[in-house]
Amino acid sequence: MVKRRITVLGATGSIGTSTLDLLDRAGGAEAFDVVALTGSRNIAGLASAAKRLRAEVAVTADPTRLADLQDALAGSGVSAAAGPQALLDAAAEPADWTMSAIVGSAGLAPTLRAAQRGGTLALANKESLVCGGQLLLDECARSGAVLLPADSEHSAIFQCLRGERSAEIERVIVTASGGPFRDFTLAQMQDVTPEQAIAHPNWDMGVGISIDSASMFNKALELIEAKYLFGLRSSQIEVLVHRQSIIHSMVGFTDGSIIAQMGPPDMRGAIGFALNYPDRPDLPVERVDFAALATLDFTAPDSERFPALRLAQQVLEMGGLAGTVLNAAKEAAMQGFLDRKIGFLTMADLVEGALNVLPCVGEPSDLTSVVELDAAARAYVRAQIC
Ligand code: NAD
Ligand code: MG
Repeated sequence: MVKRRITVLGATGSIGTSTLDLLDRAGGAEAFDVVALTGSRNIAGLASAAKRLRAEVAVTADPTRLADLQDALAGSGVSAAAGPQALLDAAAEPADWTMSAIVGSAGLAPTLRAAQRGGTLALANKESLVCGGQLLLDECARSGAVLLPADSEHSAIFQCLRGERSAEIERVIVTASGGPFRDFTLAQMQDVTPEQAIAHPNWDMGVGISIDSASMFNKALELIEAKYLFGLRSSQIEVLVHRQSIIHSMVGFTDGSIIAQMGPPDMRGAIGFALNYPDRPDLPVERVDFAALATLDFTAPDSERFPALRLAQQVLEMGGLAGTVLNAAKEAAMQGFLDRKIGFLTMADLVEGALNVLPCVGEPSDLTSVVELDAAARAYVRAQIC
């Protein structure tokens, strides 16, 4: 059997290592031709994965770490490369299946490059759709690339829609765990620390998405992601707080019927679905024990405590450029929170300010317009913080 050629962008992160775990379990270098693995600061982790999987090239986004990567790969036969252009070149190398798992808007350009050259694109980097909007879909349409969601909610929606007609979708219910502050009052949320925000009750994830989950900006990004992935109107997309994270999302149809996708809170479910699609081989995830769970809880989301949800609705109406601003302002504000320069609740205030100040109605025409607007939104937020 011909081995599939695989590239993992963001191979050293939480999604990246879960992806490599599935590749290893499925036979690693014996079963796949690994083209490129990319990372940034974790050179030891990147090099050891690249050697184990016999990758053609390992790329660090950080050009100052090229010598370290070369040292770590010496004699292994794996090429080393560094910097933004090397990242784009790696994404452009022919591959059958690419995992897009860089964090933040830094993932957009490499993801677009992978979409341009075709193959299957498993999308964990939701920011590519939030910042780039229609751009990524257009690239996929041009090259014939197959876009498969690797976010648990969107994988769930995709699974619920298998064999269904899009005209018969009435609503999509995106579930949210509510994060570590789901039971906090606004007053309690005022003084929370980055450490508290990073400690997610259900999922073990990277720092950025953990804080986004605490503020529900992650859910905001996911509502926008759902709009593009499934061609939905904003009025069709709902959020439901479901603290156990067993129902990953649901789709309601015109006859009142609802299909839900369930599974344990383990990203290897969604990643494995995208890796093996359309097959469903055994995956190393726990099986749900409903009797042990006893109950599944649901509550309405509260956009007073979590204004990110209200801002997402605004962006859904405004279009992709507003997504660019929301995400860039959110990333800059998150840095301010991590640096302890602003409080947790100020993040949403700054994002709202950026959406009000910057011109951002409609869809981006090209990557340059996204990059420029992204920079303007970050500059606005940084000016407010200092
Ligand atoms: P992470 O922080 O654990 O890993 C990020 C990866 O991106 C690392 O490999 C890092 O080296 C690389 N990276 C960081 N900055 C970079 C830059 N400037 N240029 C190039 N590469 C860079 O993040 P994660 O939790 O794995 O999340 C990755 C993406 O997947 C995010 O878009 C996130 O929203 C999405 N996602 C994550 C989860 C999860 O459970 N972790 C679930 C759904 C979606
Ligand atoms: Mg998700």
